[in-house]
Amino acid sequence: MLRIPFGRLGALALISASLLASLGAPTTARAAARAHPAKAAITSASAISTAATLSASAAGKVAAIEAAPAPGFYRFMLGSFAITALSDGKRPINAHMLSNISEQEVDQTLAGAGQANPVPSSFNAFLIDTGSKLVLIDTGAGALWGPQLGKLGEQLQLAGYAAEQVDEIYLTHMHSDHIGGLMDGDSLRFPHAIVRASKAEADYWLSPARLEQAADKDKGSFRNAQNALRAYIANERFLSFEPGAELAPGIRAVASEGHTAGHSTYLVESAGQKLLVWGDMLHIAAIQFGQPGATMRFDYDGGAAVSVRRQVLQAAARDGLLVAGAHLPFPGIGKVVAREDGFAWQPQLIDQATAANRPAQAK
Ligand SMILES: [Zn+2]
Repeated sequence: MLRIPFGRLGALALISASLLASLGAPTTARAAARAHPAKAAITSASAISTAATLSASAAGKVAAIEAAPAPGFYRFMLGSFAITALSDGKRPINAHMLSNISEQEVDQTLAGAGQANPVPSSFNAFLIDTGSKLVLIDTGAGALWGPQLGKLGEQLQLAGYAAEQVDEIYLTHMHSDHIGGLMDGDSLRFPHAIVRASKAEADYWLSPARLEQAADKDKGSFRNAQNALRAYIANERFLSFEPGAELAPGIRAVASEGHTAGHSTYLVESAGQKLLVWGDMLHIAAIQFGQPGATMRFDYDGGAAVSVRRQVLQAAARDGLLVAGAHLPFPGIGKVVAREDGFAWQPQLIDQATAANRPAQAK
């Protein structure tokens, strides 16, 4: 059942456009290194051997560093589960897309946090190795949002896992920056995985009728979701779930709709330790922890997004939950604390000594 008029969906297309507009183009050197890492490495090697000057050597080192994939994973233990935060990349986000707050207040709050608009934003996904199952929560943007994102596959490998090893993928929601990584060109990036999302989310985004009825500017988000899931559905590798479902031992879905029609949060528990993994519970940490009433203009239901954010932040603070967030500064792991008139984010570094010895899951 459609609760919100289609007019609201206009903003979904707008976010992509304004994010793209705020996207800084990479430098030519960086772009070349990315496009031809082997060539960049060869160039730097010959520069060092022929010129053998300090400056050439230093330049070569920088080129080689730029050409190498930057580490973007962070691992820690949660009970007997190994959790790996994976960076899909970073991109600026326009904080003026927040509503229920003036642009002036946005700018002042950001300045108070030593930031300015547009705000650099992390795009994180989380891998849970239970010892018997490898579960990935969200997949990054893949090729859908430009070259600054789409690094998840690379980071998964650097973290010691192969995409073929992933058993299950749980989606927080079906916006492009969370589902684009399901596909690698025309191929399933995770050929052995079952993909799961809430029934409300699937009904909304995967409906051919909704795509048909959507205004032209809104159709892209529907197409992206349907294209990302099509091959999984055709191969019987997609299963929706009802709110509150236990999807694997120690991993439960918690309904948190508002940002999208069927947005889900996942509560992970092992040996009495808990981790709450959320998707787009909030977008601008520097503003929305302190002012949870500020919300994204492209929310499916802004009022619901605000109330679910308050509830979840309240519960996380009260229970001292460890939290992992999709758009919190990488690795996006920390705790929420209650303040007099809002909340605050406390990033946590977790002792990785025990995690470091754990090999990638053997299949
Ligand atoms: Zn997102």
